[in-house]
This record gives sequence, C-alpha cells and structure tokens, in this order.
Amino acid sequence: MPGDSGTIVVVEDDHNIADLVDLYLRRDGFRVVQAADGASGLAAVERERPRLVILDVGLPGDVDGIEVCRRLRAAGTVPVLMLTARDTEVDRVLGLEMGADDYVTKPFSPRELVARVKAILRRSEGQPRESPQVLQAGGVEVDRGRREARVEGEVVPLATREFDLLAYLAENVGLVLSRRQLLDGVWGPGWFGDERTVDVHVRQLRKKLGDSLPLSTVWGVGYRLG
Ligand code: CA
Repeated sequence: MPGDSGTIVVVEDDHNIADLVDLYLRRDGFRVVQAADGASGLAAVERERPRLVILDVGLPGDVDGIEVCRRLRAAGTVPVLMLTARDTEVDRVLGLEMGADDYVTKPFSPRELVARVKAILRRSEGQPRESPQVLQAGGVEVDRGRREARVEGEVVPLATREFDLLAYLAENVGLVLSRRQLLDGVWGPGWFGDERTVDVHVRQLRKKLGDSLPLSTVWGVGYRLG
C-alpha cells in the first residue's frame, strides 16, 4: 500500500533530483514530503514526524543542509541521510558535530539511495518491520532462523562465518559494502583482523554457491550482493 512504509521528508532545492528520489521512495511504499529550502524542511520535519530525512548539503537561503542537520540533531533523533555534491563534504557531514547517519555523493543511483534508506531504518529502529527469516539472494535462500543456505531446495553446507557473511550481505542487498564494513558487521567492530579475511570468505561462498550467488566485486571498494 502506498505510504505504508512511513513518511520521508526530502529537503532538496533541485527539483529533478527531488522528484527522482520521490518516485523511487514511493515505489517502495514510502510517503514523501518535499521541501526546497532549509526553513521549510525543518517545518516539514516538525509537522510530519518522518521516519527519516533526506537532506541536501547545498540549499539556498540562510539555512543550508549542514545547519538543518545540526538543528535536527539538537531537536531529536530522526535519522538523516545527506546528499553531498563533493567527496570533500563527506568528513564534515559524518563528523561528530553533524552526525548524519549516512550520505550519498551526487550523482547517485536512486536504487542505491533507497537501499541506504532501508539500511538506516533497520539500524536505527532495530528489527525491520518486515523481518523475514528467509531472505532471497539471487538463486540462494538465506534462512536466518535455521541458519541454512539453500539452492533449489538443497542445503549448501557453510561454515559459521561464511553463513554470517552471506546473511549480512543479504540483509544489505543492493548496497556496496566495503571490507571494513563487512568486518565490522560480521566479525564485530572489535575485530582487528586483516581485511583480506573478507576476501577469503567471499571466495569460499562463491565456490560453494556458484552462479546462484549474484555477488559482485566492486573494484577498489568491496562487494555488493544483488
Ligand atoms: Ca542543492
């Protein structure tokens, strides 16, 4: 049902980008409220109580995206995903002072943006609303309840970490994950091992699951499932 996934406020003065983001979010069941400057963005958040705010850094007028984010942080805990025009903005955006939950740099793929929105919502709200025990990744069924990977109904035996890695990738389907993110998510943030550990486990997953696993290597970054 349209709107069932909750409301997202999109603060962006570029109407083409705002409409594109709007379109993709609505396809995923979100209700979208647009605002074209910082002041109306803050008013929209106050009024709509959204699940998440997508916020452009460069906004016209006195209140730019950085300032909007600061005020949102001061006022509450709504998750914020920033749109940045330059990689050089990223440090400021994610810094402690600002504390955005995530960012994408323009130009971005709307599909990637929606995947990030969902990942933030999962993190910030704990369990997802729709938390299926069995996730589908290409031809692989990832059964988190039974801790089984199945291809065409047949269980493929995996080592514990291999299954954990597969499940983590499946939970973040469509997202590019760096080796560091995978280490943090699967091995835990306190794990100071070599990032090549991830590659070793990925190789095992590919060997065992073959073409059923739609796992791509993103050169220089990490991996993406789906
Ligand atoms: Ca802008």
